[in-house]
Amino acid sequence: MEKIGKRFQEKVAIVTASTQGIGFGIAERLGLEGAAVVISSRRQTNVDEAVKKLKNQGIEVMGLVCHVSNAQQRKDLIKNTIQKYGKLDVVVCNAAANPSVDGIVETKEAVLDKLWEINVKASILLLQEAAPHLNKGSSIVFVSSIVGFHPLKGLAMYGVTKTALLGLTKALATEMAPDTRVNCIAPGFVPTYFASILTTDEQRRSLEEKTLLNRVGTTQDMAAAAAYLASDDASYVTGETLIVAGGMPSRL
Ligand code: NAP
Repeated sequence: MEKIGKRFQEKVAIVTASTQGIGFGIAERLGLEGAAVVISSRRQTNVDEAVKKLKNQGIEVMGLVCHVSNAQQRKDLIKNTIQKYGKLDVVVCNAAANPSVDGIVETKEAVLDKLWEINVKASILLLQEAAPHLNKGSSIVFVSSIVGFHPLKGLAMYGVTKTALLGLTKALATEMAPDTRVNCIAPGFVPTYFASILTTDEQRRSLEEKTLLNRVGTTQDMAAAAAYLASDDASYVTGETLIVAGGMPSRL
């Protein structure tokens, strides 16, 4: 990334669930473009490792443990960010869980609760903590999924929570305008740990064939899209979801 821009100089960005995969990719991209980034996830060792990788690239970074459904850890994430950097410009809500591959009518109530809690409610509660600190010109980015548009076996109820994020994006964009823009990316298939249930060669080939570009996505593809939406390049874009899925069909 030799010719990378510097759209986030003087900006402070929080990315949740950001010690590996797409969240890490987004934090890395924002950091390489000049942001001070606050990364987090559930495990301290993962946080430490990710901080080290980002620091080695010259990125200004703070790492904290934050399980997104833990109220105190959400509070501390915002408080420590403000204490250290004095402001907040970008929040990327990236955490999600898919605890079961059951069909919707078989999904246990506890699993339904967890899907709602991690994939939707925790982001709302984090933004409630963040809202008083958000600057004029700030930006929120949600991470939805192509399966929020097209249900996939084994990911059906998870997909419904990702559809909910499309509505949340519209509703919050209305509520938070004009000072804060709210947008969303909907990744296609990206071979990360989270997506490992889909990574047999056969499944991967079948997913590649569903794209127009004949390949799966990369964390860098997702990071580039999230960085665009978070940046001033998208200063006239709010309430939108950018599908980053290699041309997979994407109508609701
Ligand atoms: P990943 O590579 O498995 O990374 C997940 C990250 O989240 C890790 O850093 C993990 O660290 C952290 N994490 C997990 N649960 C957390 C929680 N409750 N609170 C805080 N941190 C948590 O996953 P990914 O594929 O990048 O997925 C990231 C996002 O992209 C998710 O919203 C997912 O729905 C979305 N997405 C992924 C794909 C895909 O194909 N990969 C497609 C569409 C959408 P710890 O273990 O230390 O917590």
